[in-house]
Amino acid sequence: MSGRFDQRRDRLRRLMRKQGLPALLVTHTGNVRYLTGFTGDDSYLLLLPQTDVLLSDPRFTTQLEEECPGLQCEIRAPGTSILDALQQCFRTGKSSILGVEGASLTLVTYEAIKSRLESIDLVSTSGLVEQLRLIKDREEVAHLREAVSIAQRSFGVIRASLQSQDTEKEVADLLEYQIRQFGGTQSAFEPIVAVGPRAALPHARPTSCQIGEADFVLVDWGAVSGGYRSDLTRILVTGKISRKLERIYEIVLKAQQRAIKAIRPGVTLNKVDRSARSVIAKAGFEKNFGHGLGHGIGLEIHEAPRLAPKQTQTLQPGMVVTVEPGIYLPGWGGIRIEDDVLVTRTGHEVLSDLERSLGGSIVA
Ligand code: ZN
Ligand code: ZN
Repeated sequence: MSGRFDQRRDRLRRLMRKQGLPALLVTHTGNVRYLTGFTGDDSYLLLLPQTDVLLSDPRFTTQLEEECPGLQCEIRAPGTSILDALQQCFRTGKSSILGVEGASLTLVTYEAIKSRLESIDLVSTSGLVEQLRLIKDREEVAHLREAVSIAQRSFGVIRASLQSQDTEKEVADLLEYQIRQFGGTQSAFEPIVAVGPRAALPHARPTSCQIGEADFVLVDWGAVSGGYRSDLTRILVTGKISRKLERIYEIVLKAQQRAIKAIRPGVTLNKVDRSARSVIAKAGFEKNFGHGLGHGIGLEIHEAPRLAPKQTQTLQPGMVVTVEPGIYLPGWGGIRIEDDVLVTRTGHEVLSDLERSLGGSIVA
């Protein structure tokens, strides 16, 4: 177990060396988890030239023994702060430069560290651990597969039991319950259940609006398994299929399939985005697709890489991204179809396999 985390920290050390950093304080909870396996919070990982120390507090003593065997931990005494522990460890670490995570460290903590470690240069770093997290290893992919599978089975229950008098909120609550029933830790995020015109809001929150109030409902949901998050969107047809619904749906589905087909190692992120966006633009709806095509998923629901117009990095094997084009028409509704895709050595694998056709999305 611990071997995997040791390896990740070794790889991080290599990145640190390239940047001339002898020491690094990891404060981002997701990054701490990635590097140690520790699932609690309020704890920092300090990488020193000779050793790694997890700075934590007594609430987590037992949990740390279970989750991080072999990792050196500094459990601060009640009444002392995590910065006391940091100060103590750092003194013995004999380093004059300390890297910090600029995107995670608050200004208050930064100032406090600075005043305690007076002779130390604090260097703001960006994306060091995130760079490692871009590429999922086999175990991470297995967790993501399970998170997708749990989400899909939960959706199956919702779909089979959907009634026109159900409210958006009731459906969202049941979905969260089912995710736990199928072995998920929790929802990957607050599910979106948006009836008809409400689906025009890409991040609609579930209300008391009833499923039968429009001809279709958009559901965007995901599950957490082993810390890893899935993210899917489907449309369920609950009324009649209008010409407009059919047309919009076909454009979005075509855009999604084009983009998925484009996914393979070496292709730039913006090119994948463009392959979907051009289908939507050609149909005249460019202005109605106001978000990026997709995002990485993992320990967090939105992580690197981003499939978006200005992203010029390339896809690499082991990345897992969502592909979620949408068309949003205020007053009418929105259509989005979202799947989770793994970049493989030769191309891609779509991890989700729920029905995608409009005809197959009709709820009896
Ligand atoms: Zn989503
Ligand atoms: Zn998403």
